[in-house]
Amino acid sequence: MAFVVDGKGLAGTLKKQVKIEVAEFTAACGRPPQLTVVLVGDDAASQSYIRAKERACQRAGIASALIRLPPTITSQELLAMVDSLNRDESVDGLLVQLPLPEHLDAEPIVAAISPLKDVDCFHPENLGLLLRGCPRFVPCTPHGIMQILDSLGTDLTGLDAVVVGRSLIVGRPMAMLLIERNMTVTVCHSLTVDLPAKVRAADLVVAAVGVPGLVKGDWLKPGAIVIDVGTNYKGGGLVGDVDFPSAVKVAGTITPVPGGVGPLTVTQLLRNVLTAARLLR
Ligand code: NDP
Repeated sequence: MAFVVDGKGLAGTLKKQVKIEVAEFTAACGRPPQLTVVLVGDDAASQSYIRAKERACQRAGIASALIRLPPTITSQELLAMVDSLNRDESVDGLLVQLPLPEHLDAEPIVAAISPLKDVDCFHPENLGLLLRGCPRFVPCTPHGIMQILDSLGTDLTGLDAVVVGRSLIVGRPMAMLLIERNMTVTVCHSLTVDLPAKVRAADLVVAAVGVPGLVKGDWLKPGAIVIDVGTNYKGGGLVGDVDFPSAVKVAGTITPVPGGVGPLTVTQLLRNVLTAARLLR
């Protein structure tokens, strides 16, 4: 049976460290770091993610503000709002919660956020810095996964990694961070031929797909590290992209859903807000 990672416990430890550094920043600058979140519309999942972010900020001593905008807002109006928040010196970290309503293209909105305030690390400039191996911010979920891997104390050098999913939010930045650790990385996607065989060759599997239970236990190399990013609502509960009951019998280490990667994602957002505040001080 695999070692099951306690993401909540690890997040708790890391949050304590952020809280100490936030208190030091606040004492030195006379104000806490500040995060502003823009929410367009009333998507239920987005509202729940935002509540979690607000709670985490409050506990860490970070000030937060939520700007709610109607789902009918135009792209120009939203860009004007982003522009005014970019100029607002009281705002350190700025994020526009995705997904946006269908009539709004997220790309120009994300690119309009000041790269110095881009705590989600979605801006092309920040992704470019990450690609070059000198990140200003690190995207929250891949960063959280690196914290999990570091907590295991495994030397990743030369090991084979398979990342299933090639999104800009998880899969691609994840692959970059693993390459930085000298892993040999294969990135798989919906058109990959024989995904089970690719996964079976991996010492580390990161599943960031959005398909409940896609990765089965008999796809895994015995002893592999399995990181499940998936957050899928199924049968009234939350399930991952890995079929946990079969995978836990084959893997060496596995993250559960919930309680694995998710808590680390919020923690790394706090870390990025602190970084932004230091940049803008
Ligand atoms: P996207 O939908 O942006 O990307 C999904 C990726 O999976 C795509 O690259 C897609 O391939 C690939 N894919 C889809 N179906 C298959 C398949 N059958 N076989 C192989 N690859 C497939 O999702 P995200 O990256 O944003 O999120 C992935 C999952 O992680 C979701 O469940 C999301 O909710 C969760 N998530 C969890 C977070 C957390 O904090 N725990 C944070 C962020 C996301 P293609 O490119 O070819 O379409």
